[in-house]
Amino acid sequence: MKYASGPVMVWELAGRPRRASLAAEPVAATCAMCGRDVAESVHVKHSIGGKSFTDQYLLARRGSDRTCYGCAWVCTGKGMDQIRMWTVVAVPDRELPPSNPKAQYATPHLHCTSRADMRAVVDTLADPPDGPWLVAVAESGQKHTIPYARINHGAGRWRVRMDARDITATPGEFREVFGRVLALRKAGFTPGEIEALEPSVGRLNAATLPIWRHHAAALSPWRGSPLLHLATFLPSKEHLDEYLSRFPADGPGSGDADRLGRGVPVRDPRQRGRGEDRAEAVVGPGPDRVGDGDGDGCLF
Ligand SMILES: [Zn+2]
Repeated sequence: MKYASGPVMVWELAGRPRRASLAAEPVAATCAMCGRDVAESVHVKHSIGGKSFTDQYLLARRGSDRTCYGCAWVCTGKGMDQIRMWTVVAVPDRELPPSNPKAQYATPHLHCTSRADMRAVVDTLADPPDGPWLVAVAESGQKHTIPYARINHGAGRWRVRMDARDITATPGEFREVFGRVLALRKAGFTPGEIEALEPSVGRLNAATLPIWRHHAAALSPWRGSPLLHLATFLPSKEHLDEYLSRFPADGPGSGDADRLGRGVPVRDPRQRGRGEDRAEAVVGPGPDRVGDGDGDGCLF
């Protein structure tokens, strides 16, 4: 089945839920969000109008002030009766692990979870399914992510939504960055230290210094990137060992960083054309790629 958009796919896989507080009117319209022509619609004043949304969708479909029911549904709801609070993995062609028991819209193809267990997210990003799939990560639980979530296809470069960020990477880049984050977490470094690539002085000792130097050098092209932010957000302590067994990163002594021995960023041969001026301000590949040219990830 082909889905018009990420929000529509989520609504379909949730079983096309209806909400008593959100009435569909028998008004034929073109959906301002997904562009579908539908026989039943909802005026935007009941969904995205007057809320904290920007008007990016309305600008995209300037002629319409109505949305389909599915698009209205993903943008609305209160308390437990909404999708916004959940991190979501949607895969029509792959059965997903059980969701958080409190997630009332979860189905075998719509996984809803919290930060406590992001394994289905990690699995999907590291090893995407062949067909369509979508991931939206609720970092704060306050931001809408599903309205901005894009459908990915197969194992090429993907884009996922995390609060107000769009994150793009290939599965290989994700495995690389995630594996190094795990190795540093295992050595005792905090997510904040890893994301900033700045260890606390007290954390460095004879045992941890070589580990830090090795992995931080490999991560330096990703400094400040959305991908590194995501990779430091995902692992919980409880699943650290399980992740480490799946994503082992090469240790100190096995790479160029250690042969040079100066802790300077060393180019990963897989990242062709990147980081030529690494001695200058180091810019990760993530931010440059946000949006991938189809939508600017407008925030709200
Ligand atoms: Zn729609």
